[in-house]
Amino acid sequence: MISSHQLEEWRKVSEECIRKWGDRSPFGILHTQLHPVDIETMLKALPACLEEIERLKESVLDMVIQFGYYSKVHGRLHITTGGLSALENAFSGLGWEDPHPYPQGECEYPKCHAHATCGTPTKDGYKHVCGEHFSALQALEDK
Ligand SMILES: [Zn+2]
Repeated sequence: MISSHQLEEWRKVSEECIRKWGDRSPFGILHTQLHPVDIETMLKALPACLEEIERLKESVLDMVIQFGYYSKVHGRLHITTGGLSALENAFSGLGWEDPHPYPQGECEYPKCHAHATCGTPTKDGYKHVCGEHFSALQALEDK
């Protein structure tokens, strides 16, 4: 969800782009061709455009998480592009460095930082764990 503060910032940047660069504006329209009503119409469309960008970013994020390569850097889980140009573009779109830290994808077994590739219900709720700790966690639950 986009905050009203963020929306206001983007509105200012868009207005500045239209005034300064005209034909290089995000809308690709010459400033001299624009009537103030056109600018107002475009700015009214801005929230819907920003929502669409956010939705697309979430889709890119889902794809990166599913298709990215996982490795450890300094003992913590990271996602990398593996040198694939499609993933490099996706990382760029997300504003991520390569490799990108991904602690939320780590195994929830104590002191394990491996990639959590499976999950199981436990007394303390659903846990995401690595393959090694999947059976260990189930054995603990069976006791
Ligand atoms: Zn583990």
